[in-house]
Amino acid sequence: MPPDQPWVIGETAPWSVAWTGESVFGLQRSTDFPGYLEVFQEEKPGVGHPVFAANHASRNKRGMFAHLCHVCGEPTKSWDRWLFPLQTGGMIDLDDGQRRYGCNVPPVHKACAERAQRLCPHLSRLYAQPVRFPKDDEGRMVPRFDVQPGMEALARSLPTGQPIVLSCYRLHGPRFSKLVQKLMESADSATQG
Ligand SMILES: [Zn+2]
Repeated sequence: MPPDQPWVIGETAPWSVAWTGESVFGLQRSTDFPGYLEVFQEEKPGVGHPVFAANHASRNKRGMFAHLCHVCGEPTKSWDRWLFPLQTGGMIDLDDGQRRYGCNVPPVHKACAERAQRLCPHLSRLYAQPVRFPKDDEGRMVPRFDVQPGMEALARSLPTGQPIVLSCYRLHGPRFSKLVQKLMESADSATQG
C-alpha cells in the first residue's frame, strides 16, 4: 500500500464498507436464509478507495450474523458489543402494530466505537453515544430484497421473477426497541429545546 494511502482498515476506514475495487457481484444459494438466492460481492478490501455510503454485501452480512465488529472486523464478545442505534438502522412498524428497532450494520467494540467517533463526522455529533447490544435480546435476522446504495447497477442486472436477498437487518425485541425509541425521543427534544 502506498505510504500516502490515507485509508487504513480498522483505523480510518471501517472493515464493513465496500471498496471501489470490489465491483464484481454474483448470486448464490443462501445458507443464512435457506430457500433464497442471495447476492455476494467479491472481496478485495484495500483495493481502490473505500465507498463510505455502501456496505460491502458479503462482509456486512457476515458481520451481522456473527457479531463481527463493523470497524475492525474481529469478533465482539457479548460484554464488549455496542451499537449506535440513533445513527444506524431505524424503527420498523410491524403488521401487528408493534414498533421495533431494526439494525443494518454490525456491532462495534467499545474501543473501536470511540475511535470511530473521533474519525467519523456523523458519529462525532453530540448525541452519538454507543449503546450496549442487548445480550438477552439478540432479535432475529430478516432478509431485505430492496436495493441499497451502491447496488443500483447490480439490481438492474438481476433476474426477475424471484426474490433475491440483497441485504439484511437484525430486528430486535420489544424491550430493546422501547429503549431505542426513548433515546430517539430524548435526542429529538434536546435538539428542539
Ligand atoms: Zn473492533
